[in-house]
Amino acid sequence: MKKMIKPLTQWYQLYARELPWRKEPTAYGVWVSEIMLQQTRVEAVKEYYIRFMQELPTIKALSEASEERLLKLWQGLGYYNRVKNMQKAAIEIMEQYQGQLPMSYEKLLKLKGIGEYTAGAISSIAFGLPEAAVDGNVLRVMTRLTADGRDITQKEVKKDFYNRIKELLQHTNPSIFNQALMELGAVICLPNGVPKCEICPLQGYCQAYQQNRMMDFPYKAPKKPRKVENRMMFFILFENKVALCKRPQKGLLSNLWELPNILLEEEISPFQQLFDWGILCGKVEPLGNAKHIFTHIQWNMEGYFVKAKALEGKQCDFVWVTEEEMRSHYALPSAFRYYMEKGWKEGKKEYEF
Ligand code: SF4
Repeated sequence: MKKMIKPLTQWYQLYARELPWRKEPTAYGVWVSEIMLQQTRVEAVKEYYIRFMQELPTIKALSEASEERLLKLWQGLGYYNRVKNMQKAAIEIMEQYQGQLPMSYEKLLKLKGIGEYTAGAISSIAFGLPEAAVDGNVLRVMTRLTADGRDITQKEVKKDFYNRIKELLQHTNPSIFNQALMELGAVICLPNGVPKCEICPLQGYCQAYQQNRMMDFPYKAPKKPRKVENRMMFFILFENKVALCKRPQKGLLSNLWELPNILLEEEISPFQQLFDWGILCGKVEPLGNAKHIFTHIQWNMEGYFVKAKALEGKQCDFVWVTEEEMRSHYALPSAFRYYMEKGWKEGKKEYEF
């Protein structure tokens, strides 16, 4: 495998994409970009990254930011625990490491929200340490190069590739090599669809290519099906304000704002639910069905636009906010975006605001 170091790193130095976090990389910048890039496409991350670094340019600024501001900066990226954990880690870094990310894989790994991949990426890219950063992209490239049909969801398989890459890093610049492997996985050895073997710098070393079995790798054992939840969503307008409430402190989308909604375990009409909340309705219109997929759960939603006539005071957990307040101060997860947009459209027709 040592033979592939040179063609891969040369290719990277010639063809790497220009990305905002690659210009004058700092350890903080690598950290922020790697956390944002988990589960999110590069194109979508670019703007978020620039805005985040402008608003919170240091670990100190991140440690001191209000939760509302953080969630607002993250709004639309999803998986909000990522940014909450980053802030917890930033506070730890301020307390234990004088505001600088520690130059040690093991110490990085102990920080909240930093797993093996991120610790490897920061150690190697920012500090030049010989630590592997093995994510899905890297596993895809490595299993294809070696035509390895083991199940990549198994810890020992990942560990094996981690060790093999770590060994290679003894013979090259870890920052460039790791980034080159990630880049190859992102733009040449593609995840969905046919890899671009005809322009791959590693074609001559790739066993999957030689056997014409590129699509056989990586192998993943089939996953358990996602849990499906049926939910009824409400966009409730009282005068020109919409009702929002906070999600529980723990679990899915914890502590984020949401549209009032219920889990449909038994048959219930929207009117009955609104009555339970103490909402006297002037109008209830269906807003249609929508679906949102999280990692382990799928929400199948039916939504309603409600024009409230009066409030009976039972709905103590609701806050009532204007569209402007909502967009500037309340970070709502993307699961609610569909009903939020449709609801305001309906509301404007009703109230002409
Ligand atoms: S030759 Fe094809 S399958 Fe092999 S590493 Fe390159 S792009 Fe991936």
